[in-house]
Amino acid sequence: MSLRTQITLRTAVVLPFVMIFLITMGVMVFTQKQSYKEMVSDISARRLISLTNNVNQSLSEFLEKPFEANLSLSQNIGYHHLYQAGNLSKVQDYILYKFSKHFQTTSQVDVIGFGSEDGNYVGFRKEANKGYTLMVQDERTNDQLVIYRGSKISEDIRSVISDYDPKVRPWYIPVVAEKKASWSPIYANADERQEITLSALAPVYDNNEFKAVIVCDIKINTFNAFLRNLKSKTDASVYIIDQQQRLIAHSGGGSVVSWGTGRTNKGQRLLAIESANPIIQKSASYVDRNSLLENMEIQHFNFTLDGEHYFNQITPYKDKYGLTWFIGMSIPESNLLGELPDKQRNSWLLGLLLSCIGIVAGLIAFNRIIQPITSTADAAKRLAKGDWDGNMPKPSNIYETSMLVEAFNEMAKNLKASFQQLQSQLTYDSLTKLYSREGFIDAAKKKAKIEKGTLYLVGINRFRDINDSLGHQNGDQLLIIAAARLRGTLPSEYLLARTGGDEFAIYAPNIIQEADVQILANRLVQTFSSPFAMESESVVIKISIGVVNVSSDQEITLCLRNSSIALSNAKQDKASICIYDPEMRKASKHRTKMLARINNAIELQQFEPFYQPIIDLESGSTIGAEALARWITDKGVISPIEFISLAEESGLIYDIGQQILHKSCRDTAIAIESGKWSEDFSIHVNLSVDQLTESGFVELVKSTLNETKLPAKNLTLEITESRIIDNDPMIIDNMLALKSLGISIAIDDFGTGYSSLAYLQKLPFDCLKIDRSFVSKLDKEGIDRSIVAAIANITKGFKVNLVAEGVETQQQAELLKQLQCPQAQGFLYSRPVPFEQWPANLTNIQKNT
Ligand code: C2E
Ligand code: CA
Ligand code: CA
Repeated sequence: MSLRTQITLRTAVVLPFVMIFLITMGVMVFTQKQSYKEMVSDISARRLISLTNNVNQSLSEFLEKPFEANLSLSQNIGYHHLYQAGNLSKVQDYILYKFSKHFQTTSQVDVIGFGSEDGNYVGFRKEANKGYTLMVQDERTNDQLVIYRGSKISEDIRSVISDYDPKVRPWYIPVVAEKKASWSPIYANADERQEITLSALAPVYDNNEFKAVIVCDIKINTFNAFLRNLKSKTDASVYIIDQQQRLIAHSGGGSVVSWGTGRTNKGQRLLAIESANPIIQKSASYVDRNSLLENMEIQHFNFTLDGEHYFNQITPYKDKYGLTWFIGMSIPESNLLGELPDKQRNSWLLGLLLSCIGIVAGLIAFNRIIQPITSTADAAKRLAKGDWDGNMPKPSNIYETSMLVEAFNEMAKNLKASFQQLQSQLTYDSLTKLYSREGFIDAAKKKAKIEKGTLYLVGINRFRDINDSLGHQNGDQLLIIAAARLRGTLPSEYLLARTGGDEFAIYAPNIIQEADVQILANRLVQTFSSPFAMESESVVIKISIGVVNVSSDQEITLCLRNSSIALSNAKQDKASICIYDPEMRKASKHRTKMLARINNAIELQQFEPFYQPIIDLESGSTIGAEALARWITDKGVISPIEFISLAEESGLIYDIGQQILHKSCRDTAIAIESGKWSEDFSIHVNLSVDQLTESGFVELVKSTLNETKLPAKNLTLEITESRIIDNDPMIIDNMLALKSLGISIAIDDFGTGYSSLAYLQKLPFDCLKIDRSFVSKLDKEGIDRSIVAAIANITKGFKVNLVAEGVETQQQAELLKQLQCPQAQGFLYSRPVPFEQWPANLTNIQKNT
């Protein structure tokens, strides 16, 4: 797998959605928050202004009414001259009249009083039962302040205060000084209730002379009720303070006067920052800290208290009678928009929840979609590992993935079938239905692990020849019959295989003892000994067997190789059975090496003919030569004994033979041309039967003669007798073809092949070469009983030449002459020599050897 980072399909599909969703959510929340903030500050400002206006207006009305009452009283008293020094009864009547008639409902007006410059006083106090309490100090009360229980002098006296001087009261002094209507400072009443009072004051003039002060007391506490009411309706905390930041009224509940022992004196009004109400306290602190009262403007500010955000406004309040107060107002954010923020948050949460559900549902759905894909991929992986029996993916409800899964399953099924077919093709031989080499190795491996045994490798000798002569179809049929025979004779637990074209392997479990091994081998030979009846004819075959013991820990492939070595040995030795011996392995290795070298030598044209003269015994002259192959290497000359049989087995003899044939024909043509050799000089070239059976061989000889310009009559081809005997008609056909070209044929090593005379008669030949084993025995045996004599006798009937090989002694030569053998060849005359060293004078050589 590549090193590239990979993400799953799921991630690839879901991630962008989730990202888009989150970004959208984020942007939405941000802009909403932003616009919410703007909206909130806008609404809060408007709300604060409207509420403040409301308070402002109420306060104005609250304060205006008493002033109006006061002014009307002062004007009327002056205009109607109601004031009489010493006796205030007219003023008293008028005030009571006015109070009860016109100001009955003006709840904030508590007391209306009249203090004259002569130190007298009359006033009425409104009582809770809507009655009025008269307070008088004039000549009628002996200049004492008498407070009655009713509105008349005849009523019971509630209390008497002596030494009361209205002119020193805080409501009198400012008016005397200014001579105009004004507000008194806020003060505590001199009566028994000592309520916090603010008085509207007006001078009374009679004939433009200042006579008295009309005082109209306002109980400020009653304004608290208005503010509390406002608070309960709007949740706005309101407080009114003077320039000293002392509370005048507030929505907080409780008195504005300190009755406790604090920083402030008893009876003094509280500073706003001392308010028991935390909102007012915090707002006032803010005002104080930031000196907001100094610039007499409407000002806004915010703060947070106990997690609640408050919007605040401080507004100056002034009236024409010199009052300078400030209205502080705080509204909580939650109250501003009602449930809107909560609803908004809830809708966000709901949106988020729905989206999460959507994502989860999407993921589940997506999982279901890709599940077939991943299970298909898993199945493919398993198939790749060779697991053909794993679970196959199941189609889903989705068309495309179902198609994929079905296509995959179909493909897997086909693959499985082809794989099984291939497997069986690999495991079994299609022709014989026995195991193939691979199948045998597998099966034998398993079997050998359990039971030791013996491996037999049976090879059919010269199967290629059978194939060539009978045709491949018959060859195949023969193999089928052979397989059936094996199967029929051997126990079923034996493993049978065709491991090569003409090779059968047999694994015989439990056959270990030497005797048993041999018995089974013999049985195999016997199995093949009876003729094979084919459609057209019946064939007798011979087999060779390589045998190897198999122990449980041995590699079967190695055993097969060893059995093959043993089989080669059996074929070489012409023994039908050969039991493997590790030494063979070495030999085999040597052979392999040798073959490679021979191959190379063919390339390099390293094969050269050496020539050995053939002598006419009668005249002693050289009438021909045998070309004997030599392998010329850097290290020396290698004898044909070392390489001919190997070359024959491997088929390389064809190339070597061709080199020798070509060079000998060329040399001979040159030698005849130069007069070195006579015109009827006979050059003998050895032929392997394998060459002779090769198609196109006759053509090759023909073209060689053409190329080298050697007449056919000068060429004799030697073929070893023993190799011709058990061979097919093609050999004889080719021999005839060669003969028809004018080439002579010699039967080499004659006498070793035990060929019958009848057979010999069939062979077209011109010359017999008597094997040197017979020549070497000549001197020891009685000449008449010798094989050479017999051969000489037999051939008398044929019109053929006789050449005695291996003549080493003069005596042998003499004896051969006696037996009327015409020609001879041997070390007596010359060893085989290179063309250049061909003896100029044979007589000399004779002497030398
Ligand atoms: P061969 O055809 O029977 O050749 C005769 C062998 O006898 C030669 O051995 C030769 O050197 C040897 N010889 C000759 N005179 C005497 C003698 O007086 N005493 C003894 N002891 N031996 C003598 P060489 O050259 O080693 O060849 C051995 C065999 O190799 C040949 O036997 C022949 O069958 C085969 N051969 C040689 N050259 C070729 C070739 O070109 N093609 C084929 N197919 N086979 C060849
Ligand atoms: Ca020969
Ligand atoms: Ca010979």
